[in-house]
Amino acid sequence: MTPQATATCGTMRRPKSEAAFEDAQQYMPGGVNSPVRAFKGVGGNPVVIQKAKGAYVWDVDGNRYVDYVGSYGPMILGHAHPAVIGGIQQTAEDGTSFGAPTVLENKLAKMVIDAVPALDKVRFVNSGTEACLSAIRLARAFTGREKLIKFEGCYHGHADSFLVKAGSGVATLGKPDSPGVPKETAGLTLTATYNDLSSVEALLKNHPEDVAAIMVEPVAGNMGCVPPQDGFLEGLRRLATEYGALLVFDEVMTGFRVHYGGAQALYQVEPDLSCFGKIIGGGLPVGAYGGKANIMAHVAPEGSMYQAGTLSGNPLAMRAGVETLTRLKEPGFYDQLNQRATDLADGFKRVCQEYHVPHQVNQVGSMVSLFFNEQPVTNFTEAAQSDRELFNRVFWRMLDAGIYMAPSPFEAAFVSMAHTQQDVEQTLEALSSALAAEKA
Ligand code: PLP
Repeated sequence: MTPQATATCGTMRRPKSEAAFEDAQQYMPGGVNSPVRAFKGVGGNPVVIQKAKGAYVWDVDGNRYVDYVGSYGPMILGHAHPAVIGGIQQTAEDGTSFGAPTVLENKLAKMVIDAVPALDKVRFVNSGTEACLSAIRLARAFTGREKLIKFEGCYHGHADSFLVKAGSGVATLGKPDSPGVPKETAGLTLTATYNDLSSVEALLKNHPEDVAAIMVEPVAGNMGCVPPQDGFLEGLRRLATEYGALLVFDEVMTGFRVHYGGAQALYQVEPDLSCFGKIIGGGLPVGAYGGKANIMAHVAPEGSMYQAGTLSGNPLAMRAGVETLTRLKEPGFYDQLNQRATDLADGFKRVCQEYHVPHQVNQVGSMVSLFFNEQPVTNFTEAAQSDRELFNRVFWRMLDAGIYMAPSPFEAAFVSMAHTQQDVEQTLEALSSALAAEKA
């Protein structure tokens, strides 16, 4: 293949995006409020978004893109769904935050609990990070232990305990850990290899009385999409029980994405605690953690594990979540969504085969990843062996052709209900042209 230096940052000029991003850098570190948005992993500057509708986003220069980022997962219905926007508008008329209970919180809590097998109670927070850090505090409070087992390449938000071999954004920047995390805290986090039960068992054998929680993305999404192999989640369940640790499923990405009841419903493995975010807020800031009543009874004010939030259970986020989940319950929703994602995944394979490009396509439901890799991708080490240079060139060529994939090989593409067959075809044509350019 002939790497083309000029294609690294694309050929299309986006003067308004460039100007806005330059401006942003005066005011915000790196010009963004979350690192992956800065496009550092792929080189070049980000497109600055003006608006979105359905499967599309438009940048400030007026270019339209078929969007597979979907705000990194929440936009399962597509952008600006009328029911979600209408619900938010109606709720906002009555005020946006009270610091007091609302009936909307009950409504969303009941919907989440009814959907997810391992939940008796939930606590709403404001982000996936908050959900995960609170779940770990709860696991520590419940077990009286301090250590945590996580998996290399799994991301659970940016709390100190999790910034150890943390996948996606951190991996994209080539930063294995973050300065500022006390080594005492990082030392409490043990890392195992995804899909490798023996690596987990070895850690547990070394620390038989110390591990409060085994935390896992039940389908990994932050090393690209990596499904759990047969028996992996069941094995984690068995090991957690055997060693007195809690099994925590981080379903921030998979919750209501791979199945209405999350990955735990899809794979029929019940964790002790579960974390949510993204979809349950319908595109507004939200998170939640929950589990069995006897564990959740430790959370203040019922119990003594302190966790709180001024804006937690925010009415706009609750309403957006209720409207979103209501649509997901419609008959055939996931069949249709997953079929569209399968069309995309099959198309990726077909186009790569046509150009004899080594590739692996991983898919679980509407999460799809194309790795430029000879070998199957079952863990982070394998994901990291993919051809990143090729990914970067393909990324920019597809962006120029109006396809907005995540600017990192360690993110999944999220298909929404708004994506049409035509969108998928446009995407595959763009991939085909991008790979043809490699051969030119
Ligand atoms: N857990 C998982 C699996 C995630 O994918 C993410 C974010 O991408 C988080 C936790 C953190 O969520 P947030 O970015 O809302 O803090």
